[in-house]
Amino acid sequence: MEILLYILIFLFGTIIGSFLNVVIHRVPRKESIVYPPSHCPKCGHDLKTIDLIPILSYILLKGRCRYCGEKISARYPVVEVLTGTLFLIIYYKFGLDFKAFSYMFLASILISISFIDMEHKIVPNKIIIAGFVGAIIFRLLMSNYGFLDYVLGLVLGGGILLLISLISGGEMGGGDIKLMALIGFFIGWKLTILVLFLSVIIGALGGAILVALKIKGRKDYIPFAPYISIAWFISILYGYEILNYYIKFIRG
Ligand SMILES: [Zn+2]
Repeated sequence: MEILLYILIFLFGTIIGSFLNVVIHRVPRKESIVYPPSHCPKCGHDLKTIDLIPILSYILLKGRCRYCGEKISARYPVVEVLTGTLFLIIYYKFGLDFKAFSYMFLASILISISFIDMEHKIVPNKIIIAGFVGAIIFRLLMSNYGFLDYVLGLVLGGGILLLISLISGGEMGGGDIKLMALIGFFIGWKLTILVLFLSVIIGALGGAILVALKIKGRKDYIPFAPYISIAWFISILYGYEILNYYIKFIRG
């Protein structure tokens, strides 16, 4: 029975991922995410239910629109598999409670923002606001976890990036500041500090690799939201182990 639950959680994740694809496509284009129904961006043909089955429809259609043959972006199956996999890992680590649901929610927000940042170099306010609405609801549902810790996370996450931005003269985008404040509100101040550290390290490494592979030039915009998101995921999975190890290390 356990295996069945894993399969269901993964499928649930891919369905959410399918919705995130709509968000990623429409929000930066200032289109509504509920209307009109899903259609091919090239020929405008409405998609049937069978065209909307996550992953499977992409494989069955061999990555092309059924009506006009236009290539469908690989981003669609990638986002679906990614969302399904992250949900699966979150379930494996945390079970099925409000904490797990809050992380699945934040994972969805971060996937949308990361892909939009990579494609359009923006972090849309609409998604940040949706994130904060969700965060407030989860903080109320999870009042047994306390409140102050998370407010500190919000202030610290946003505040430190704001400070870096002011010192560096705007190197850090406003979107990243809001994103870090949002993450802080979900995870509390201790893990927030870890996310800040890790995202700088992962960002520097990732940037160096992209430049070395000549995917990006030295002066190109390198989206930071994906690095913050990866740092967040590592921190919720292994954060306390890393922090404990670090404390032991500095105490000798
Ligand atoms: Zn088409």
